[in-house]
Amino acid sequence: MAAIMPLSRRTFHRASARLPRAKCRDTVERPLAARGGAGKSVVEAANSRSSGEAHADVVIVGGNMAGLAAAIALRKVGLKPIVLERMPSQPHVNGGLHIWTNGSKALDWLGLEGELRAQGSPVETLEFKDWRGSVLLRANVGEIERKHGGHGAFFIPRVDLPRALLGAVTEGDVRWGSTVTAVREDADSVTATLEDGSGVTGSVLLGADGIGSGVRRHLFGQIDPRSAGYEDWGAVVDFEHPKAPPGYYPTYWGRGTRLGIAHIGHGRLYWAAALQRSPEDRANGVAPRIEDMVAQFRDWPEPIKEVLAATPQDAFYGAEIKDLVPLKQWGRGRMTLVGDAAHATTPNLGRGVSEALEDGVVIARLLAELPDFADTGRVAAALQSYENQRRKTTASVTKLSRQIGLLGKWKNPLACTARGVYIRVITPPTVMSMNKDFKKAL
Ligand SMILES: Cc1cc2nc3c(=O)[nH]c(=O)nc-3n(C[C@H](O)[C@H](O)[C@H](O)COP(=O)(O)OP(=O)(O)OC[C@H]3O[C@@H](n4cnc5c(N)ncnc54)[C@H](O)[C@@H]3O)c2cc1C
Repeated sequence: MAAIMPLSRRTFHRASARLPRAKCRDTVERPLAARGGAGKSVVEAANSRSSGEAHADVVIVGGNMAGLAAAIALRKVGLKPIVLERMPSQPHVNGGLHIWTNGSKALDWLGLEGELRAQGSPVETLEFKDWRGSVLLRANVGEIERKHGGHGAFFIPRVDLPRALLGAVTEGDVRWGSTVTAVREDADSVTATLEDGSGVTGSVLLGADGIGSGVRRHLFGQIDPRSAGYEDWGAVVDFEHPKAPPGYYPTYWGRGTRLGIAHIGHGRLYWAAALQRSPEDRANGVAPRIEDMVAQFRDWPEPIKEVLAATPQDAFYGAEIKDLVPLKQWGRGRMTLVGDAAHATTPNLGRGVSEALEDGVVIARLLAELPDFADTGRVAAALQSYENQRRKTTASVTKLSRQIGLLGKWKNPLACTARGVYIRVITPPTVMSMNKDFKKAL
């Protein structure tokens, strides 16, 4: 597959100073804090609005994976973004991150694929095995990648992606410590209001504010994420073992639990287990003990017990897994959603970030086709086109990933045997669908 080149840089004469001022009579502004949260009221936000406004072509609420990727992509097509991120600086995040082929292509478009792949570890073979070590599904991902000309799947330390994205963002485009408390749309502009009452106005607003998105709440009301009924616990350890060579990515399926391991580059191994814990343990926020995990997995194939035993308790972290029911609509007028705000998925396919990266590239290309942002109808049509291109794929990722998670919860031995048969049966269509993913242009 030919390398996907960024669109040539276009000059847009949309000096932000020429953006029309907000017209209060058209204003619909709601606080972004969740129901019962501590956000400013509509009146408070409106009253404090006068303390200063900044302008951008595209205002992005949220500065993690989706927000930063969108900002880089928008700059590449000649547009000016402002990213508003509530964190004071980029946080350090643990774990490993799986990038799928569409994420690789998006990173290539953003100019970051080579650098990230070099830091990580490519996926050559993906396997599902039962807890005794029998192969249920095998996909030669490296072969599929070579057949389709590159942009394969790889693992990296999770921290590397936001760091690389931030390194590629134009200086001054990200405003740290900027919590957005309300958003509003006027006749021909959009405004995000910050805690201090100041506003950032633009022609388009992207909600890149994650699974609990306040922008989504503004657009469509309260839509609560749904629990998947399990937690993911894992760690990154310095670990090498002949049974876990680089490029080999197995997930072992047991009764009510799964555990996957993957190299993430430079002798580091990432492992993650899906655990169903009691509601009390979850509510107490107590981490499972590594020695209990070693005992729980003692009969599983090498090197599971060994990698668990090599994990210090304080390197071990976890999260309750949630996703969003696929939304029927992502945007309205000059506002839309990207990344987890639009389509949060469980991590079983390792595709949440790849989908977020692709969102940013698609939206930037579509906005670049507009001669200007004066006509709300045309802006809305471009955002609708983005949604049309992305909604079906992301909905099927969410659905399939949730189904895998549900199958992984089965505990009954007979049901687990039937599950093994089922996974073997679906291997050919799964590999076919991977081929389609690799073949598809971004
Ligand atoms: C255990 C686990 C493992 C995972 N593994 C993988 C994997 O291997 N591969 C993969 O592709 N995906 C994986 N994912 C999913 C991936 O983490 C998400 O899809 C991804 O982080 C989404 O990025 P985002 O930028 O859309 O949202 P987020 O990462 O949630 O970022 C949202 C940002 O918005 C900011 N924000 C929120 N509200 C406001 C506000 N009002 N004002 C200003 N800023 C605000 C937040 O501070 C945050 O920085 C995993 C998820 C989990 C839980």
